[in-house]
Amino acid sequence: MASILDLIGETPLVEVTRIERGPCRLFLKLESANPSGSIKDRPARAMIEAAEAEHKLAPGGTIVEATAGNTGLGLALVGGRKGYRTLLVVPDKMAREKVLHARALGAEVVTARSDVGKGHPDYYQDVAEAIAGRTPGAFYINQFANPANPQSHADSTAPEILRQMDGDVDAVVIGVGSGGTLTGIGRFLRQASPKTTIVLADPVGSVLAPFVQTGKMPQAGSWAVEGIGEDFIPPICDLGLVSQAYSIPDAESFATARDLLRLEGVLGGSSSGTLLAAALRHCRAQSSPKRVVTLVCDSGAKYLSKVYNPTYLAQEGFTHPDRHGTVGDIVVGRASEGSAVTVRPDDPLRTVFARMRSADVSQLPVIDANGHVVGLIDESDVLAALLTDEAGANRAFALPVKDVMVTRIETISAAAPVAELVPLFRKDYIAIVMDGDQFLGVATRLDLINYFRLMP
Ligand code: PMP
Repeated sequence: MASILDLIGETPLVEVTRIERGPCRLFLKLESANPSGSIKDRPARAMIEAAEAEHKLAPGGTIVEATAGNTGLGLALVGGRKGYRTLLVVPDKMAREKVLHARALGAEVVTARSDVGKGHPDYYQDVAEAIAGRTPGAFYINQFANPANPQSHADSTAPEILRQMDGDVDAVVIGVGSGGTLTGIGRFLRQASPKTTIVLADPVGSVLAPFVQTGKMPQAGSWAVEGIGEDFIPPICDLGLVSQAYSIPDAESFATARDLLRLEGVLGGSSSGTLLAAALRHCRAQSSPKRVVTLVCDSGAKYLSKVYNPTYLAQEGFTHPDRHGTVGDIVVGRASEGSAVTVRPDDPLRTVFARMRSADVSQLPVIDANGHVVGLIDESDVLAALLTDEAGANRAFALPVKDVMVTRIETISAAAPVAELVPLFRKDYIAIVMDGDQFLGVATRLDLINYFRLMP
């Protein structure tokens, strides 16, 4: 019987068949099939086992790492199986699912700022190094400089690819977080398959692709894709192996990940969207048939609330890009797309409460069967009903919305200028936005603040 650690690696390879790929054949190595759901299980096990072999990690020891999430999950999985304490420092932009997953595996998670660069004491790698320095028996994994990280890919990922492709691969498209995958696969293939080129897939804002293209270090920007892109060149990252680099905007990465699921049925994370987008650009640019491989680095299950959440995409400005300076621009959850949060007049207060809590809102428009707004209900209305009901607060959860809602509501047209929201917000109202006589969605003060944040 295999242990869960024996299931790391030997991941499947599948061919892209429905997305347009020019004259090429394109294959995806599903690293999402590893036990913790990502490519990082391989180096996690290798780095822990190398530390054990070098007597840097002993029973009762602590594994410390700065990680975007997946390395942490791999370390927590392997470290936990082997009886080590695992302490992870993650930048605060990381998906909540990854943090919850790491904690549930038994790891301790410390959050660090993602708005400061390397060398700042609050930068996640500097925080991790400092914690490891003052913790007895701790080993700082330091995936960015740990040779066991690329070695794991040279030992397993790369030979698997070559074998699964029957020894015939023209290009492998890879992203860089630590550079372990790129350096490991690149070094192995340079020896074992000299014709194979390494293509870098990088988010716009990262310094890596511009460095490959120009030889100069640009100022780093920011990006929303997780796990790849850097503001420095990691020591183990051998960019000399790269023959071509593509910078992919976040919106293209997210849209491509969604295409991958819709058209190919493969649930990948945001970095997989970047890699696939670069692979597709590369394939479509070829004038003769090539055999190209890229990676699904992790599972999209970790990003359901981001990549696969229309409200998040709208909030981040990846959809509805047209701006007219009108109230309609502010609305992220649209009734016409099924993503507005509302209640019906006959719904019980129990439903109001459940919906407020799951959507994290304090006011809900009440919409009838014809799509017309008939009222508004907020936390104070619900609480007042519970406190004054003669049958008792708990029974009052069965009351219908229509008995409790406020019916004197003000609406605003989607076509009105944004400035007309301000008087509504002064009165502490949310704005109920109408498209003609149909309810479009609501606009809150936070939505307006977010609108200004996304202003070009
Ligand atoms: N994709 C995801 C989702 C990742 O978490 C990582 C690792 N940070 C990578 C790609 C890149 O891997 P590497 O560290 O080997 O460069």
